[in-house]
Amino acid sequence: MSSTNQKVTQEFYIANEADMVAFGEGIGRTLRAQSASQCVFLNGDLGAGKTTLSRGILRAFGHAGAVKSPTYTLVEIYEFAERRVYHFDLYRLGDPEELEYMGIRDYFSDGSICLMEWPERGRGILPEPDLFIDVTVQGDGRKIQLTAKPNLVLA
Ligand code: ADP
Ligand code: MG
Repeated sequence: MSSTNQKVTQEFYIANEADMVAFGEGIGRTLRAQSASQCVFLNGDLGAGKTTLSRGILRAFGHAGAVKSPTYTLVEIYEFAERRVYHFDLYRLGDPEELEYMGIRDYFSDGSICLMEWPERGRGILPEPDLFIDVTVQGDGRKIQLTAKPNLVLA
C-alpha cells in the first residue's frame, strides 16, 4: 500500500468472475458506508471486467439481478430506499460536452453513487473521482488497482 497526496493505492488479483462480483460487493459496502455522494471511475479495456465489478457494487446496495451495459443510453439508474446509484458507460459518448447537456452535475448530489465506465471520454467535464479502479487482464484473472481517498480504503 502506498500513499501520495492523501490518496491510497491498493492492488489485488481476482482469479475469476464470481470472485470479481464478491470483490465488487466489498467495494460497494465501503461506498454505502459513506453518506456523501461518491464518484467511482472504472478504467480498463473492453472485456476487462468493469461491468462485472459494477454488478458486485450494486449487489451491496441490494440489487440482486443482472446489470445491463448502458452503452447506448449512457446511464442506467438504480433506485434504492436511501439513495440512487447511477451506472454510466461513456464508451459511445462523442463529445464530453454532451454530458453538460444531460445535466451531469445533478447526478453528483443527494448522496448518489456514480459508477463510470470509460470515464476518459468525459475528460474535462467529470469531477475528480473519489475512487479510481483500474482493471487489467492478468493471465486467466484480473489485476485491480484501487486509488482512493482514505475513507474509501478497503479493510
Ligand atoms: P467490461 O465491462 O470491462 O467490458 P465485463 O464486465 O463485461 O467487462 O466482463 C468481460 C468478461 O470478463 C466477462 O466474460 C466476465 O465474466 C469476465 N471476467 C470478469 N472479471 C473476471 C475475473 N476477475 N477473472 C476472469 N474473468 C473475469
Ligand atoms: Mg462494460
